[in-house]
Amino acid sequence: NTKTNASNANTNVNVNGNPNGNTPRHVGPPPPATLFDKRTGSEYVTGKLLGEGGFARCYQVTGPSGEPLAAKIIRKDSLKTQKQKAKLFAEIKIHQTMNHPAIVAFNHVFEDDENVYIILELCENGASSWTMVEFLKTRKRLSEPETRYYMHHLLNAVNYMHKNRVIHRDLKLGNMFLAKDMRLKIGDFGLAALITYDGERKKTICGTPNYIAPEVLFGAQHDGHSFEVDMWSLGVVMYTQLIGKPPFQTKEVKAIYKKIRDNNYEFPPQISISESAKDVINALLNNKPEYRPSVEEVLQYPFFTKEPVPYSIPVSALTSIPTIQ
Ligand code: ADP
Repeated sequence: NTKTNASNANTNVNVNGNPNGNTPRHVGPPPPATLFDKRTGSEYVTGKLLGEGGFARCYQVTGPSGEPLAAKIIRKDSLKTQKQKAKLFAEIKIHQTMNHPAIVAFNHVFEDDENVYIILELCENGASSWTMVEFLKTRKRLSEPETRYYMHHLLNAVNYMHKNRVIHRDLKLGNMFLAKDMRLKIGDFGLAALITYDGERKKTICGTPNYIAPEVLFGAQHDGHSFEVDMWSLGVVMYTQLIGKPPFQTKEVKAIYKKIRDNNYEFPPQISISESAKDVINALLNNKPEYRPSVEEVLQYPFFTKEPVPYSIPVSALTSIPTIQ
């Protein structure tokens, strides 16, 4: 079950788009002013549009007790095939079981004749709903203490997923939301998979070109892939945070895949980063999945143990390198 390739390197290959993010392609009427769950009688008042993804629009809503939330709205007529419906159902089923401070909390799901509504924790920082993409666009790159902070949160969340037998399979800057107090939350379980028995290897080619592990691209005929693909993507994320662009980035998706196959990336000499940071990235970007460290192993690397992990990041980091206490 091979999925088609994307024309662009930041969007996942199961959805049309670009190599790092998602390309909106929505038409049709705006959602109702009030979202009503007939089954529970709960009402959600629709607010501003937060963003658009591959197949969803996301609005701020006010929940039954006046709490601010996010509603991911999927038009039913955009779910044309049985496969698309099954995918959405799988996303909901997996996301519903997740409960971790660095994962977007799943609140509720319901439907009416037109749409499916997924009610999620609202990830907002001040006035804007930012992902790591917008954060990095503004800052160009992050300092090592900030990277240590965000990678630590990411690793803990991924550890939680893997312990619960969930592979995310689409860890990328665009799926990492910046929430209140500069905390990070992983969202979008659209490509996540559940490992149902020990040693199971997945065969579906999916992911996002810039972030996709070599065994996903080239291993389907052989061994398939498993939890290690998330560790690879975390290597891409960490490199991008420190260097300011993804390690295998080029104009053509095919050329990206060739670079991934050849493990062809380098640290630009004009950007100074520590040897201990490079050690983590090199370990995660190991072509052989069996040699990639697990979350627990990565957390033992000097990058995470020799310097303290910052307790929090000040909001001033949105625009300039923060002083971290
Ligand atoms: P899709 O699964 O279709 O790609 P996404 O989950 O990426 O949809 O959501 C699309 C956009 O909506 C995101 O880029 C972001 O701007 C916004 N968004 C999604 N979830 C939230 C949330 N929980 N809080 C705030 N904004 C969100």
